[in-house]
Amino acid sequence: MSEQSTDAIPAARGAANRLRCSDPSCGTWLSREEGRYSCPRCGQLVELVLEVDPEVARAWPTRWRGRLPGRDASSRSGVWRFSELLPSTPPGVAPVTLGEGGTPLVELPQLAEELQLESLAVKHLGVNPTGSFKDLGMTVCVTEARALRRDVVACASTGNTSASMAAYAARAGMRALVLVPEGQVTAAKLAQALDFGAVVVQAGDTFDEAFGLLRQLAPRLNLYLANSINPFRLEGQKTAVVELMEQLDWRPPDYLILPGGNLGNVSALGKGLSELAEAGLVAKLPHLGVVQAEGASPFHRMWSSGAEELVPEDHPETRATAIRIGRPANWPRALRALLRTRGLTAAVSDSEIETAKRRLAELGVGCEPASAASLAGLRRMRRSGQVPAGARVVLVLTGHQLKDTAYVEEHLAGLPGIRRAEPTMEGVERTLRGWL
Ligand SMILES: *Cc1c(COP(=O)(O)O)cnc(C)c1O
Ligand SMILES: [Zn+2]
Repeated sequence: MSEQSTDAIPAARGAANRLRCSDPSCGTWLSREEGRYSCPRCGQLVELVLEVDPEVARAWPTRWRGRLPGRDASSRSGVWRFSELLPSTPPGVAPVTLGEGGTPLVELPQLAEELQLESLAVKHLGVNPTGSFKDLGMTVCVTEARALRRDVVACASTGNTSASMAAYAARAGMRALVLVPEGQVTAAKLAQALDFGAVVVQAGDTFDEAFGLLRQLAPRLNLYLANSINPFRLEGQKTAVVELMEQLDWRPPDYLILPGGNLGNVSALGKGLSELAEAGLVAKLPHLGVVQAEGASPFHRMWSSGAEELVPEDHPETRATAIRIGRPANWPRALRALLRTRGLTAAVSDSEIETAKRRLAELGVGCEPASAASLAGLRRMRRSGQVPAGARVVLVLTGHQLKDTAYVEEHLAGLPGIRRAEPTMEGVERTLRGWL
């Protein structure tokens, strides 16, 4: 029912319907029906190309405002309301949606002052149907699987991709196969995938190993891949930046900082920003900042050393499991996004991530550990002067607080914590002595 009404959003003009090799020096065009992820000529990943006419685009912001999510929560997706920027769906194919997008932008004035910034806000993409930004891409990706009449979707995952894919597959009536590294996925994320009926296979010690296996298996088993090498994922994820610009009245911040794992999200946000600039909807681009965990920071190493090739990290290590990735598949397009926006990177320790997560929680903002890397990275960038005083900054929070509750239990030191009391008034009062 809800799918019918989302479908009623007028067909896009200038929609991103044509697929091309993402390497500008190759530029081979592909047909969408083939359902390929990489270029048959050079092997690079492929992407959808949006052809925009600024004359036509001028009318879009008003039209988008008229489709605000929440006006009819069951039918208005915060992704599909930007249909002008997305691949259009063939006649008769309704988008597979759970009402994703429409996420909050939360101002943090205390923290802005502490860091001597003009303004600081978090765009909380953890407030999505399955608790991470993956939903923004999955709605478009699974819709494409439906259009291609595929019935098994598959992914390798550090947890959030599998939770999201399993939900959208269930919504579409498809089967879902998930490959996860053994013992590396949080209980909550696994429970989500299982709850939505996915088949979960544990294989390998790292995401990279599981992903390598899946890429080999996919053509043999006719699996439709929902990892971020899938170009349709990025199309949905890019709407986060469109929604953000709308929330900021089309005045981009100076810096937009996010954690990086497989580097699909920074690629998506970079693509969205470039398209908004081409459409004449923003006058300048924010600098994109990518933050990695020290033990899993091959992209940071490449960028900061000026190297032209990424050297993978074979044994990625960090407690922030969502970014425990050593062989990021999207590094070439992430590199282009950073070059286009004169971006920056940082690597942060697990203890800096912990401090950042604690600080956000003190301000009432919960998130999973990987998300807090963006604040930890901003602190480093302020100290090094990469981000100057007086800047306007937005941090992207990628995942929900409830994704990793074991983390909080492991890091209780300094928090009030749980106390035991005799079940009497005096008993409870005694336990609270010194605190009240
Ligand atoms: C997937 C994910 C990331 C990493 O995003 P990439 O697109 O792989 O760089 C970061 N944080 C959370 C919570 C995630 O789920
Ligand atoms: Zn190519």
